[in-house]
Amino acid sequence: MDDAPEVAVLRLGHRPGRDDRMTTHVALTARALGADRVVLPENASDAADTARSVTGRFGGPFAVEQRQPRSVLRGWTGRVVHLTMYGEPVQAVEDAVRAARRDHPLLAVVGAEKVPFDVYEGADWNVAVTNQPHSEVAGLAVFLDRLFEGRELDARWPDADRRVVPQATGKRVVDAEEHGGDG
Ligand code: SAM
Repeated sequence: MDDAPEVAVLRLGHRPGRDDRMTTHVALTARALGADRVVLPENASDAADTARSVTGRFGGPFAVEQRQPRSVLRGWTGRVVHLTMYGEPVQAVEDAVRAARRDHPLLAVVGAEKVPFDVYEGADWNVAVTNQPHSEVAGLAVFLDRLFEGRELDARWPDADRRVVPQATGKRVVDAEEHGGDG
């Protein structure tokens, strides 16, 4: 996205079957809205495969990893934002998070089922996108958009195989190389 330290997204927990679409959408949202990397649980291989396939076709750079979420949290040396309806309003903390990210990698954590309390305690910020219950995908999207102040909407995808040409009506997808790469 920019020259600052990386932004990674960690999906904490995954119930195969029930969470397949949501975990896939966490990964696709992380990619589309400017994160550098998503880390999915080891049992989320279908979601990881889909995210890798989309990255292969529509471009990166974006990394999809599968690791044990608790070990990622334990080993993280940067700052941690845990997205939760119980946290502080995103609009109240976004400046502080953005300032910290100039010097430190940022891990944005989203849950699936009930999140253990030590995750709340270990986070540098527990951040709410409204204090209403909704979805990890919606929370992640709004958080990333606030973090990047909308710049992610103009991202370029230099290694894409294909590119969507915006249309007022209808669909147009072109081969990226034959039509000027990402431009
Ligand atoms: N009982 C769970 C909890 O801890 O809130 C609900 C899980 S919710 C379906 C799944 C994830 O969505 C949460 O772990 C959190 O990351 C995210 N989420 C839901 N509502 C949110 C909100 N208002 N702000 C930020 N994240 C939210």
